[in-house]
Amino acid sequence: MKTSYQETWQQLLPRLSREWRRLGGPEKTELGTRLRRIAELQRQMHQLFLAAGGLQACADCRGGCCGSGTHHLTLANLLALLDSEQAFPHPDFNQSCPWLSVDGCRLEPGCRPFNCVTFVCHLVEEFWSPEQVASFYRLEKALRVEYQWLARRCAGGSLQGVLLVARRLGPVSLLSPLRSKP
Ligand code: SF4
Ligand code: SF4
Repeated sequence: MKTSYQETWQQLLPRLSREWRRLGGPEKTELGTRLRRIAELQRQMHQLFLAAGGLQACADCRGGCCGSGTHHLTLANLLALLDSEQAFPHPDFNQSCPWLSVDGCRLEPGCRPFNCVTFVCHLVEEFWSPEQVASFYRLEKALRVEYQWLARRCAGGSLQGVLLVARRLGPVSLLSPLRSKP
């Protein structure tokens, strides 16, 4: 019988927590630094989103672009949650995105998926000045560099959804190093 995403999630979370706790030395220090940089860039992008009145626009739209979000969460986001020791919101795999609630996204902006934080529609973007638009895309470029670093660093680090990656890798550690480090 095919494993459900709920089951994959329930296996993945404790397994990755163990792997993260066991990782030590310079590897973990560098990874932690990169994860915090990702979180910081994402929070800065979120500030621009807030400045444009994005919360109200998205509430009025009822999260119109949050469909099919199951595979947006990547390893970087899950590790950022582990690194920050925040409580995990429980995913609801019956929703179009397991993290969506009536109040919007339940993930803290620093831990949201790359696809989500880098997308803004015209309803939000039209409230930005040209300088704010430029800032947003400058931050996006810097953020992409960090995600790409993780993709080169470890087996599960791609921008593919972490549930699919975990299934593809099977027993192989998501954090196992790849040969071609940057
Ligand atoms: S970014 Fe645009 S399309 Fe997406 S939820 Fe907000 S208002 Fe709706
Ligand atoms: S993770 Fe959050 S922002 Fe992304 S699709 Fe799901 S609810 Fe929307």
